[in-house]
Amino acid sequence: MDYCEALKEILKHNIVWIEAQSCSGETVMILKSGCEGIDELFFHSSPVKLISIIAEEKAGKEMLNDILNSDNYILVVEGAIPKNDELCNFGGLTCKELLTRLSEKALAIVAVGSCAVNGGIIREVGGLGVSEVLNKKVYEVPGCPASDKTMVAMLYSVLQKGG
Ligand code: SF4
Repeated sequence: MDYCEALKEILKHNIVWIEAQSCSGETVMILKSGCEGIDELFFHSSPVKLISIIAEEKAGKEMLNDILNSDNYILVVEGAIPKNDELCNFGGLTCKELLTRLSEKALAIVAVGSCAVNGGIIREVGGLGVSEVLNKKVYEVPGCPASDKTMVAMLYSVLQKGG
């Protein structure tokens, strides 16, 4: 199976992809992979749900309620989780609360990019990695940005294991 086939296979599954304190570098890496039709698939045709703290608007809040009532998904986190809750809110929840709620029903949790792994470039100003916030197993793909190939390999592997 080549890279694009693996990516399209991944995008058939329920994935909740959160951008916390992020520059969207990992999302961009996936979208510029060069695979035909990937934008349409990622944003519209697949069951992937992307929520970003910089898009905390009505549509985002409605989608968040649907997501919080769903289950059987892989939780992907991009970006750091700030110690200061005022810096990261979505739909009335802090990023820590959102992450904790979503982690409860996630089949697996994957941190993509160094910010999500250990705070990355904003660690010095209070950015934390996902595993520092959740007391759960977190699969990690470091890099700034994380390699699209490595993210896809990790997600494919996690799905093969059943989450
Ligand atoms: S790891 Fe790098 S590319 Fe990813 S969100 Fe952080 S700064 Fe952006």
